[in-house]
Amino acid sequence: MELQLLIDKWDEIKEIVTKETETSVIAFNTWLKPLEIYDIVDDTVYIIYSEDSESRMIALIEKKYKLIFKNVIKDITGNRYDIKIILPDEALNINSSHKTNKNINNNDNNYINNNNYIDSNLNPKYTFSTFVVGGNNKFAQGTAYTVAEAPGEVCNPLFICGGPGLGKTHLMHAIGNQIMENDNNMKVLYVTAEEFTNEVIECIKNSRNKQNNDMTYFREKYRNADVLMIDDIQFFVNKESSQDEFFNTFNKLHTSGKQIIISSDKMPNEIEGFDDRYITRFEQGITAEIKIPDYETRVAIIRNKIENKNAYFPDDVIDYIATNIKSNIRSIEGAINKLIAYSNLENTDITIDNAKDLLDSIISPEKPKEITPQLIIEVVCEHYGVTIDQLISKNRSQNIIRPRHVAMYLCTQETDCSQDTIAKLLDRKDHSTIINARDNIIERLKTDSELQNQIDTIKKKIYSN
Ligand code: ADP
Ligand code: MG
Repeated sequence: MELQLLIDKWDEIKEIVTKETETSVIAFNTWLKPLEIYDIVDDTVYIIYSEDSESRMIALIEKKYKLIFKNVIKDITGNRYDIKIILPDEALNINSSHKTNKNINNNDNNYINNNNYIDSNLNPKYTFSTFVVGGNNKFAQGTAYTVAEAPGEVCNPLFICGGPGLGKTHLMHAIGNQIMENDNNMKVLYVTAEEFTNEVIECIKNSRNKQNNDMTYFREKYRNADVLMIDDIQFFVNKESSQDEFFNTFNKLHTSGKQIIISSDKMPNEIEGFDDRYITRFEQGITAEIKIPDYETRVAIIRNKIENKNAYFPDDVIDYIATNIKSNIRSIEGAINKLIAYSNLENTDITIDNAKDLLDSIISPEKPKEITPQLIIEVVCEHYGVTIDQLISKNRSQNIIRPRHVAMYLCTQETDCSQDTIAKLLDRKDHSTIINARDNIIERLKTDSELQNQIDTIKKKIYSN
């Protein structure tokens, strides 16, 4: 059977495609590695992109690789198949093309069909109903929902922050979708800081050749919004023109009571390279941090995702994923999609053994990271804004002693190194200095909750990838 032939030769096919297109390792890992043969239906070979992605990326992969896949597959099978690259969601569609499929887009809300919606750049997939709430994101979700129900009235600006893959973008789209569902005349505009920057650059470039109409149009577009969402504003760091443009828009909208929602991978006071005035402006609204989900929340998210995809995983598989993928929900989704794609393809149930096998490449990179004193020192220095030289110097000023003691304390708590080794690394005579520093911090932690917060944040940074 040709399907089996393609499955058997799939790695070989990808290798040929990689070679012929001179695809780099990064491009291979991003685009080709997640591709799996899914099915042959009529004259079409369906290739599934087994990780979480979006249709724009799939379009790009198709553009780059479709023709070459077509040719290589023709050489192998002798048939000239059409090639279609699809997302896992669409795969379920193909599987059940004769049944009604309520799973694919249960969004029959007509608010998404109007022009206003199309201009908003919102993704209808990301709603509050698909967002699982747990202790790690309860506050953020609650605040987001409040903003959605009363845009511009409270919590303005709303600043959502947290590590990668924890749901910032999802929440922003959820707010936008909810606002437009309530009132589809609202002008909601979602943009990533990167896209915004590209638009600014484009405007500046064009303004050299002709009249500055582009800039006028650009400004109008953003300044007419009722709700403006800018995702991943850490991208603005060191991009002055874009930063200025953004803040002019920000001020204009904020003073007219329009809602602004911003996301970043850091808390406002941790962002470097932004004018302090702006940080203060952010802090005038509400900051909602999304933290890493605990085990129970991870299980709830996994159950929710597999239910939405009409799949079934035994409990030990769910436990395996929840135990091994902790800090990024995007990776959890990638694991789920991979297992579902496999089970559809092989027409088999998922068991813990094949789950372990299939998820090796996703889970192994998250193997407990080795925590070394060097890493701790680097993170502590970055956190407190001191240099490594200052930290290991004999300087006794208060703003150096604190980071130094914290570094010594964390080295004793988070690594297996002996106190003598730590002393040597920090250029101290012997272990007694280290013990004193450690005890000093332990004692302070009993009453100083700010220090506790600092140490928690530093630990989070140490353990994040
Ligand atoms: P971020 O913008 O913080 O990097 P995303 O919002 O893109 O993260 O989330 C990554 C993926 O994880 C998305 O597919 C999103 O739907 C999913 N996700 C994140 N948090 C949740 C949650 N609480 N419930 C359900 N899915 C979630
Ligand atoms: Mg995001």
